[in-house]
Amino acid sequence: MIKAKKSLGQNFLIDKNILKKIINITDVKNKTILEIGPGTGNLTSHILNKNPKKVIVIEKDFNLAEMLEKKFKDKVKVINDDVLKIDETKLCKDKLTVFGNLPYNISTEILSKWIINLKDCFWFDLLVLMFQKEVADRIIAEFNTSNYGRLSIISSWKLNIKKICDIKPDAFSPKPKIDSTLLCFYPKKNFVKIKDPNNLEKITRIFFNQRRKMLKKPFNQLFNGNEKVLNKLNINLNLRPQNLSCDTYYHLVNEYENLIS
Ligand code: SAM
Repeated sequence: MIKAKKSLGQNFLIDKNILKKIINITDVKNKTILEIGPGTGNLTSHILNKNPKKVIVIEKDFNLAEMLEKKFKDKVKVINDDVLKIDETKLCKDKLTVFGNLPYNISTEILSKWIINLKDCFWFDLLVLMFQKEVADRIIAEFNTSNYGRLSIISSWKLNIKKICDIKPDAFSPKPKIDSTLLCFYPKKNFVKIKDPNNLEKITRIFFNQRRKMLKKPFNQLFNGNEKVLNKLNINLNLRPQNLSCDTYYHLVNEYENLIS
């Protein structure tokens, strides 16, 4: 009997209909699959039933990793490590299809790490990820809404995002106190080129530091009142950070990189 560890965000998905829904999002036959935090292997079993080429899982909990090795033997490559320490690009030459019912406490950190560290080429063809609903709402938020912020801007930079469904606590054991949401992320063919993605983190951090204040202060901090940038991007400094579109932020990063180069 596995006792769920709260510190590792262990809420195991037990609802068979949701498990089926997840695995039917994409055809995994002959694909190489990466699963983050497989837990007791409920989703892993469903993935294996669909004849993938290879399944790699990353599980931080030593006991669970050992259990998964015994359960799946050579059908699954189990990596007992922290996903935040892994370089996913070195796992396999194939493009990976990624599944993860992510531990809530590090879900945004994982997503940001993947996006910020992306090089010219995508190492995955699809991410199917479960988030706390409130986090998913921030990821998919449009500008001019209260949920819109850094996470929406960073997530949409190189990825198209599709909401699949919300999931109630009953689908998990133990039941979490919050609702969850399943999202899919697809690589974009075209996106605004940024020299150093850390600048996207920096600019959005400075702008959203005081999200209720007008744009004047963060803009002046970064661009010293540069009117050319204002006119080029058609920015009204009396607006607030949530009123600028994602594209405007990406172009602001371009302007910032020109300024400091
Ligand atoms: N995928 C399983 C399911 O749906 O039943 C379990 C999901 S549970 C929400 C999160 C899983 O991620 C747990 O098994 C937990 O041990 C694992 N985990 C937590 N932190 C991790 C980390 N930093 N790296 C890898 N796995 C982690």
